[in-house]
Amino acid sequence: MPLTLDQLNTAPLSEAMQMLDGLYEHSPWIAERALAQRPFVSLAQLKHAMTRVLDDAGIEPQLALIRAHPELAGKAMVSKTLTAESTNEQTKAGLTNCTPEEFAHIQQLNADYNARFGFPFILAVRGPRGTGLSKAQIIEAFERRVHGHPDFERQECLRNIHRIAEIRLNDKFGFEPVDGQQVWDWQEKLAQHSDAGYAEKGQLTVTYLTDAHRACAQRISHWMKDCGFDEIEIDAVGNVVGRYRPAAPDAKYLLTGSHYDTVRNGGKYDGRLGIFVPMACVQKLHAASKRLPFGIEVVAFAEEEGQRYKATFLGSGALTGHFDPAWLDQKDADGITMREAMRHAGLCVDDIPQLQRDPLQYLGFIEVHIEQGPVLNELNLPLGIVTSINGSVRYLGEVIGMASHAGTTPMDRRRDAAAAVAELILYAEQRAAQDGDSVATVGMLQVPNGSINVVPGSCKFSLDMRAPTNAQRDALAREVLAKLTEICERRSLRHSLEETMRAAAAPSAPDWQSRWERSLDALGVPLHRMPSGAGHDAMKLHEIMPQAMLFVRGENSGISHNPLESSTADDMDLAVKAFAHVLEQLSTEQH
Ligand SMILES: [Zn+2]
Repeated sequence: MPLTLDQLNTAPLSEAMQMLDGLYEHSPWIAERALAQRPFVSLAQLKHAMTRVLDDAGIEPQLALIRAHPELAGKAMVSKTLTAESTNEQTKAGLTNCTPEEFAHIQQLNADYNARFGFPFILAVRGPRGTGLSKAQIIEAFERRVHGHPDFERQECLRNIHRIAEIRLNDKFGFEPVDGQQVWDWQEKLAQHSDAGYAEKGQLTVTYLTDAHRACAQRISHWMKDCGFDEIEIDAVGNVVGRYRPAAPDAKYLLTGSHYDTVRNGGKYDGRLGIFVPMACVQKLHAASKRLPFGIEVVAFAEEEGQRYKATFLGSGALTGHFDPAWLDQKDADGITMREAMRHAGLCVDDIPQLQRDPLQYLGFIEVHIEQGPVLNELNLPLGIVTSINGSVRYLGEVIGMASHAGTTPMDRRRDAAAAVAELILYAEQRAAQDGDSVATVGMLQVPNGSINVVPGSCKFSLDMRAPTNAQRDALAREVLAKLTEICERRSLRHSLEETMRAAAAPSAPDWQSRWERSLDALGVPLHRMPSGAGHDAMKLHEIMPQAMLFVRGENSGISHNPLESSTADDMDLAVKAFAHVLEQLSTEQH
């Protein structure tokens, strides 16, 4: 019989500890301390409480816990002295029937890893979906992580231990994140379509209106049909639009969605998660024959990443009336104009202006997106509240000094352009850090025609600065640029600077942000508010209606625009629940 949360909340401590026995390898104290915080409203809340116990315990108990774990496919497995939980997990991953070569390779990795870090390699072998990583995936992760940084690896082992505990807890409570698994599976299936040249290498690349891109649109539209959307269409720019009608015909719609195109060799969840989470909600409403006092319009945006053409946010831009007709004459790397690509896809360019939405017909826009950063992962939090999409400003600059002989020019006579930019970089780093939530990056740096024996006479650089409000961004930019002037004057250098991009910050609408916050409260997920460092479709919709975003934790330190991008079925399940809760709140408000 699976346990219930009610039983756990009401049992005497010793019995409750018994219920949580074995979650953390040989470490019942973690469950014991977390149980002091009963009652829990959800398993998610209990899981987080246990991560906090371990965080607060400090490094020594953390290392002891890591060392309490058996090696993967190690001696304990061979001599059959693993705990029942570990045996089950290692067997499921196929580690108990390695070939002799695989076994030897894993033993070598075990030895290397242990020699480097002083603790065993820990991996939640049941993986992000909970149904098991393949042997190849396990070995790949091992090979990658053996090169990690010691501090990072300790944390990464702890995160894997929490993931192992999460799955063990689910098993005890007979809980399966079925909605999250559904969303997970859609993403897996959609990732089977990849552009020519990348598909062969097993990489995911889906750029605007390629064969793979159009296949994705078809797939999404069919799944929308299966979910029970009433109207489904692929619009004039290739957005897939599904509408689930309201109870009363003239009611407003909630607009939601995200993009299905990807960067080159990207991840499976960026964008797509925000399409499938609301689809899972509509599927449930339809299955229950339930209509809400408002309609739901889910848009799978055709283009957000600006990969094939320099037309970022093309999909959402079409909805806000910002499709720039000049884009149509842009050519891709093969010389195909966007106009030709659209004609080839059967899209009607003349219909694009009609895609513009009337904000009066909508309640607002919400978007779920994978965080694409390390913050939630480090905090052991599945979901995060977005306060604002950062405003940004970009410059291309050049500092000009005097190229001179590296051997004969004394240090106090130099006009070194690169040293000046180096000084600027360090200032920008420190000045942005001062704000707490601003970022500044010099991503491009070049000494044109530089030589090993010449003092740099010129240094070209880029400068990208972002902050949650326009005012904060502008203050940051002002001070960094003033510093550049000061540095150049002091060092007798000249400089030029060109602003190449400026995007306004998109702060979340307070009432919409509160709805996300209430839904996390109801789920027992502690609130963490954070700005979005990356741009999203919500930024475009922000121009015509209120918006707010929800972030979902990314695994592997939240890496994104990378095949290692990942999230778990459990986190996706919580995202579906959070979305459904917002729908519930809106339903009560609309009555
Ligand atoms: Zn995205």
